[in-house]
Amino acid sequence: MPLPDLSRCAIHTMTNKPWSLRECIDAYTRLGIGGISVWRNVLEPLGLPEAAKLLRDSGLRIPALVRGGFFVAPDPAARQAALDVNRRCIEEAHAIGAEMVVLVVGAAPGTPLPDARQQVAEGIAACLPDAQATGVKLAIEPLHPMYAADRSCINRATDARLICEQLKHPNVGIAFDVYHTWWDADLEQELRLAGQQNTLFAFHVCDWRTNTRDFLNDRGLMGDGCIDIPTIRTWAESAGFNGMNEVEIFSTDYWQMDQQTYLQKIRHAYLTRT
Ligand code: ZN
Repeated sequence: MPLPDLSRCAIHTMTNKPWSLRECIDAYTRLGIGGISVWRNVLEPLGLPEAAKLLRDSGLRIPALVRGGFFVAPDPAARQAALDVNRRCIEEAHAIGAEMVVLVVGAAPGTPLPDARQQVAEGIAACLPDAQATGVKLAIEPLHPMYAADRSCINRATDARLICEQLKHPNVGIAFDVYHTWWDADLEQELRLAGQQNTLFAFHVCDWRTNTRDFLNDRGLMGDGCIDIPTIRTWAESAGFNGMNEVEIFSTDYWQMDQQTYLQKIRHAYLTRT
């Protein structure tokens, strides 16, 4: 029996929120997981140089640093401050060897969505020199429309593509997360277009529980809910995607479980339900 292939499986550190960066790295490498996407909160306790060394020595592939963005604000000074944060994110991504920064682009009640999208385009454009200088990619992650008020004015993959087409830069692309995009009738076509335009930067997996109890921290493990992940994954791969399948689950329930046991469940769900 060949060993199951986890080389294209990456796990977001937030998935195992109770663990430190070191615990995540140890557990993932022991299980043969291929990659790790790093949330900024786990860098802080170690400091960037130490965290970067740990990550480089781990041999894990690092698809993403999570997360930058939040470009939208009514006040120009706040928008400027957001650019500084994003430039720091790009620096950190470069330091740890992450391929991209994931952008949760932001939204602000009172700022009309079209204006907000323009602020996002301007914000990303302002960060492009840093992205280009470091080789770090910027991945716009469309979020489910339930977050349109205050987290993301980009809700459909189409909205993300329009910004990519406006900026036309090889470092700008899209992170497709099945949790946020599974409902979209245009998803297959948008994945195909992203493949053609070289903007299919990332593929995130988890599941949508049909009795979702909390819109932030009640995501399911692949197979717990109603998303047809294997079909969507086939669409991405038919579009040419051959990057990591990133497991990203925020779940109060799973965070309460013993994390080693949970990691075994993740491994099984990845191998059988993704
Ligand atoms: Zn995601």
